[in-house]
Amino acid sequence: MKHFDVVVVGGGHAGCEAAAAAARMGAHTALVSQRRDTLGEMSCNPAIGGLGKGQLVREVDAFDGLMARAIDRSGIQFRMLNRSKGAAVQGPRAQADRDLYKQAMLSLLEDQANLTLCEATVMAVGDDPKRGIKTLSVVENGQWSELSCTALIITTGTFLNGLIHCGEKTWAAGRVGDAPSYGLAQSLRQFNLPFLRLKTGTPARLDGRTIAWDRLAMQEADNPPVPFSFLTDRITVPQIACGITHTTAQTHAIIRANLHRSAVYSGQISSTGPRYCPSIEDKIVRFADKDQHQIFLEPEGLNTPSVYPNGISTSLPEAVQFALLRSISGLEQVEVFRFGYAIEYDFVDPRCLNRSLMVRATPGLFLAGQITGTTGYEEAAAQGVLAGINAALYTDHRPAFSLDRADAYLGVMVDDLVNLGTREPYRMFTSRAEYRLLLRADNADLRLTPKAMALGCVGTERTQAFTAKAERLEQGRELINQLKASPSTLARHGLLVNQDGVVRTAFELLSRPDLSLADLCAVWPELAKLDAATVEQLEIDGRYQGYLARQDADIARYRRDENLALPEDLDYTAIGSLSSEVRQKLMQSRPLTLAMAARIPGITPAALTALLAHVRRLG
Ligand code: FAD
Repeated sequence: MKHFDVVVVGGGHAGCEAAAAAARMGAHTALVSQRRDTLGEMSCNPAIGGLGKGQLVREVDAFDGLMARAIDRSGIQFRMLNRSKGAAVQGPRAQADRDLYKQAMLSLLEDQANLTLCEATVMAVGDDPKRGIKTLSVVENGQWSELSCTALIITTGTFLNGLIHCGEKTWAAGRVGDAPSYGLAQSLRQFNLPFLRLKTGTPARLDGRTIAWDRLAMQEADNPPVPFSFLTDRITVPQIACGITHTTAQTHAIIRANLHRSAVYSGQISSTGPRYCPSIEDKIVRFADKDQHQIFLEPEGLNTPSVYPNGISTSLPEAVQFALLRSISGLEQVEVFRFGYAIEYDFVDPRCLNRSLMVRATPGLFLAGQITGTTGYEEAAAQGVLAGINAALYTDHRPAFSLDRADAYLGVMVDDLVNLGTREPYRMFTSRAEYRLLLRADNADLRLTPKAMALGCVGTERTQAFTAKAERLEQGRELINQLKASPSTLARHGLLVNQDGVVRTAFELLSRPDLSLADLCAVWPELAKLDAATVEQLEIDGRYQGYLARQDADIARYRRDENLALPEDLDYTAIGSLSSEVRQKLMQSRPLTLAMAARIPGITPAALTALLAHVRRLG
């Protein structure tokens, strides 16, 4: 039986990152996935990033992860969302050429030392706590074999007991064209994991040659495109435009007349879908007063006619889908490559995990990605990095690594999941982060790469690039803090400030939104020597300095409560003053800190005081 330090099951977005992260940490790692040609497959929309999600991708990159580099090699339309707003709410997004993305991911995985890629299906897993190993029964080319590992990461996405719905038709699948994982789902039951069920959906794929593009509004890419990865200098993939259209009164009438045939409305599906990515039939019902819904027509690649109509996922029968598509402006003659569908799948209530994404009751077993109740490639990838790092730490008997809500969006997501669980597919938004002025996409490397380097999960190229960047930035910061001028000197150079006699540093002046570093060169010509990236970072630092100083106090308060650890096996029944409702909520979540307990809805300040007093008495 072949033994690895870490085995990752599933080569989706979580699995690829988990395997690469464990291998970067030096663990002898295997990535076992059903098909090599679907490693890094985008099951739904061909795009990476967006608001909140783009920050996660930059955070993955800060840990030397793969997603940002893969999209930089395959992105065909880069756009910085919220460009006109502040850096804290901007989100990089790029539409991908699906095939180029998979090729880029495969080549990054193939180049990774310590990593073996196995094309096989895992049929069952076992636990041998005495020997401290997990075992796997796999089928490779029709042949059964066994593997073992010290740490096991399961990242099987929507595949566990996956059931596809298209109108009245249902069939078992992990996604269209891929077999579901029944054996594995069955065998995971031995770990007493709290399985629940969710659903998600995808729209039809259209033949772009049959779309009337000349009648559509077009959305262009940013020029120049801004890369995702801190290692990418510039994007060389050709950029394309995508089309914008909308549903019509006829579309809405077709959907209303056939609602009873949609798997979601016929009662065939009872599990919850992603609230923020509703199906078109959901939109028609929930926003009944709207007479049209916008649709982006996104080409799926440079060399394929396939087009993804973003905004109309559906589980209506094929004939109805065909009619509704042809009622949409510009799609009157459209032909369809593949119809949309909904899929129901098993996921695990993430409250059974700790912050390292390890199952609390089963040391050495980690979960990451959609299996923990999230939706989205970026959410999956970020969890994959964390699980990969922790699986490697586990095999080395090193302490677990976690991030808190003031460290990263990844910290926010994991805290939400393991503390509160989720009843619907969880996706990231900027609004979920309390400290979003700090957790920006632009500074993800400055926040996280030093931590990643200390863990040992950053390669030489990034270590060198980051160290050089940090040095340049430090020198720039020193310079702009040293350069000072009186109001009269500033006025002589055309910079109007209050003539209050107060000397100001160049850094202080940068907090003014109307001043850029280029303006300050009139006063201090030596600033012109700073490179463009340093200038951009200093300008953002300058803009946010006042707000961040205020946020620091909030973060200090939050971290004080985070430091008040609650024992994992705390007997909540022994705290007499807690109501039975509060007690039940605490027992379900088993918060690890007082701050986590405070975030559980319904936990009152009085309950927190009683909890704190009880824990202090325990000593
Ligand atoms: P996946 O990307 O699903 O990867 C799972 C991997 O595990 C696959 O490679 C599979 O082959 C492998 N695997 C499974 N079982 C086994 C086994 N027994 N042995 C070996 N390998 C195995 N996200 C959005 O953000 N917006 C959307 O609108 C959206 N719509 C979606 C619609 C559909 C129909 C589907 C299927 C997904 C949708 N998603 C959407 C979700 C998005 O695709 C996932 O969140 C993301 O891919 C999850 O990544 P993952 O790594 O957890 O799992």
